[in-house]
Amino acid sequence: MENLWRLLIESCSDFTLYALGPTVAVNVAYLVGSVCSLALDRLPSLRRYKIQQRSNDRAALWRCVRHVVLNKFLAEIPMTVAAYPIFLWLGVRKDLPLPGLGTVVATLVASFVIEDAWHYFAHRSLHTRWGWKHIHFMHHHYTTPFGVAANYAHPLETLWTGFGTVLPVLLFRPHLATMLLWIIVRQLQAISVHVGYDFPWRPSRFLPFLGGARFHDRHHRRFNRNYAPTFVWIDRLLGTADEENLGPQAAGAAEVPVVVE
Ligand SMILES: [Zn+2]
Ligand SMILES: [Zn+2]
Repeated sequence: MENLWRLLIESCSDFTLYALGPTVAVNVAYLVGSVCSLALDRLPSLRRYKIQQRSNDRAALWRCVRHVVLNKFLAEIPMTVAAYPIFLWLGVRKDLPLPGLGTVVATLVASFVIEDAWHYFAHRSLHTRWGWKHIHFMHHHYTTPFGVAANYAHPLETLWTGFGTVLPVLLFRPHLATMLLWIIVRQLQAISVHVGYDFPWRPSRFLPFLGGARFHDRHHRRFNRNYAPTFVWIDRLLGTADEENLGPQAAGAAEVPVVVE
């Protein structure tokens, strides 16, 4: 691994490493995660794990893809590239040795905690009358979420809630390799909570402080519950959690329609 990393840093400019690196990492993660989530719909044996029996049709999928690509070029990619001098200024290092496994895991866990807190309040601020009308209505277009729709949002929402992914980098100044890994796992996690399937082997079954797909699916249908993307504790603390029937027995049980409040 260290030899591969040495080859990378010796053959690439800082612009390639710090600007194109995160851009490629997040988009490859989005592409791979999206393709995998779409592949789930091709496996009839997994249908019993679908959270909602309703599915989005092909037109809905293409509408989503068109918008996400546009959003990436208008907001996400320029923002990622523009952040490159900041990463250098912060002292995000690229040199060897690579950080140890313990450091990487601790940084990722702490990053998820920070991102979750930022995202909760940023997301909740978009559920105000103004935020909803001008920005957040777009992400809620799909009341039956699917993986590709994880990034279906207004460009301003991408900037506002997406800052939560940058915030741990500002705070922890991790090694570049850790930063790239963080960007990848955060993107995959966002897809996983929109995937529309609730498998019995989901991590939230064994780690009950995690929300998971059913937790966020509930947000897309009830709107004013389950704002946090990763953990359940802030929603519990502030009284916005809806965890009714989200226990281990829930896997395989389709959601009943919820009356929107
Ligand atoms: Zn969502
Ligand atoms: Zn929302």
